[in-house]
Amino acid sequence: MEVNFYNTLERKIMPFSAINGKKIGMYTCGPTVYNFAHIGNFRAYTFEDILRRTLEFFGYDVTHVMNLTDVDDKTIRDSRKAGVALNDFTRKYKDAFFEDIKTLNIEPATVYPAATDHIPEMISLIQTLMDKGFAYQAEDKCIYFSIDKFPEYGKLARIDRENQRAGVRINSDEYAKDSVADFALWKAWDENDGDVKWDSPWGPGRPGWHIECSAMSCKYLGDTFDIHTGGIDNMFPHHEDEIAQSEAAYGHKWVNYWLHCEHLMLNGEKMSKSLGNFYTLRDLLAKGWSGREIRWVLIGAHYRKKLNFTFDSLAQARDTLNRFTDLFNRLRSVSLAGDGSEIAATVAAKMSEFETAMADDLNTAAALAPLHELTRAANKLADTNVLTKAGADMILDAFRRFDTILGCLDVDAVAEVEAIPAEVVALAEERSAARKAKNFAESDRLRDEISKLGYVIKDAPGGVYELKKA
Ligand code: AMP
Ligand code: ZN
Repeated sequence: MEVNFYNTLERKIMPFSAINGKKIGMYTCGPTVYNFAHIGNFRAYTFEDILRRTLEFFGYDVTHVMNLTDVDDKTIRDSRKAGVALNDFTRKYKDAFFEDIKTLNIEPATVYPAATDHIPEMISLIQTLMDKGFAYQAEDKCIYFSIDKFPEYGKLARIDRENQRAGVRINSDEYAKDSVADFALWKAWDENDGDVKWDSPWGPGRPGWHIECSAMSCKYLGDTFDIHTGGIDNMFPHHEDEIAQSEAAYGHKWVNYWLHCEHLMLNGEKMSKSLGNFYTLRDLLAKGWSGREIRWVLIGAHYRKKLNFTFDSLAQARDTLNRFTDLFNRLRSVSLAGDGSEIAATVAAKMSEFETAMADDLNTAAALAPLHELTRAANKLADTNVLTKAGADMILDAFRRFDTILGCLDVDAVAEVEAIPAEVVALAEERSAARKAKNFAESDRLRDEISKLGYVIKDAPGGVYELKKA
């Protein structure tokens, strides 16, 4: 099946064609490890996971590189504030990131290069840009990319040359579209950097954020590859600057497809650390939501549409996933003989609808409809006792296949509800009767006995109680 993607570079949906048959090189701008990632960041990483799983679903072999930005303006600023060495400071957030992506069932990238392990590659790329006349050292000792020397500058973010301030310099990693200027490739050391510095032909200093991705992607994917992804806010200046550096150095087109995901919003505003309106994954886990439920919310909208995060949407996710789990359990208990022809055609049709939606620029919102339709069809057949075991197995197989992309259905998870021993239940009932009779001494004695057996009892109004393992 032909797979189509919206290519930000061309501003249109295009058939996907890989450079090297079924082998794909894909680069993703990974986390800046100065804090716990928030669920807005995870919308981007989940989108990239869906993209990768979809390519794999359609038979591609994906080499996925995701960098870790462990030296930049923000990591230096906050490690200094915390009084912790940069590497120790970022280690904590790297570990947290790997834990979080596991919780969200995001497939690990093929390689996670860290910026601090690739300084020589960055220096060498900057040297090439110096040698070719695209870069210069300014009075502040920093090395800048001269946007005037690269006539295609602005082609990704669509910034006209009239709106570019060539010759004006900008030293910070992040800046707005109306500050387009020559940007820093190498930042000369100053006292704000503390002991963070590396030697270079231009004096001690550190790389700019943008050169990190150009150097690391080339090392692992070569100087031209298929797909580069990120959140939409990475498009300018980060990706624009990456294109300029890479194409100027290599002398040819660098990346064929650029895919960007829209923002996760909270009350109508972009979820972001700088605005302070964010939930980390850990915040939501602490409130009792699961990784599967959060993932379901994040993938429910098309990646190019803004998605407003609400707790209602998490509650709906819980309902929906529970309904699927009920279906899977029901399907496992079907034993009727037969060849499955009562459902085979429906399964095939729903699978084809799912594939068509995913191949259409990862339309997850449309791809979920056939799952609900198949659920209804399966329940209807089971209600009237005409669903066979063969049919039930076909349905389970279809859901397993959907889940190779969706990654949150957990088709084969059998609920581990450990039965409470009858003896404990009997004691609890006795205690309940004692309480009703206002025999509190007896009720306390029974509570102790229950507790000795390793269970706790929690009373609620109306004589209701909850019995749990201690
Ligand atoms: P950072 O760690 O700030 O470099 O961001 C990591 C990734 O998260 C980048 O791809 C950003 O574009 C993306 N991102 C940041 N905020 C949001 C948001 N509210 N919604 C979706 N993606 C976001
Ligand atoms: Zn990047």
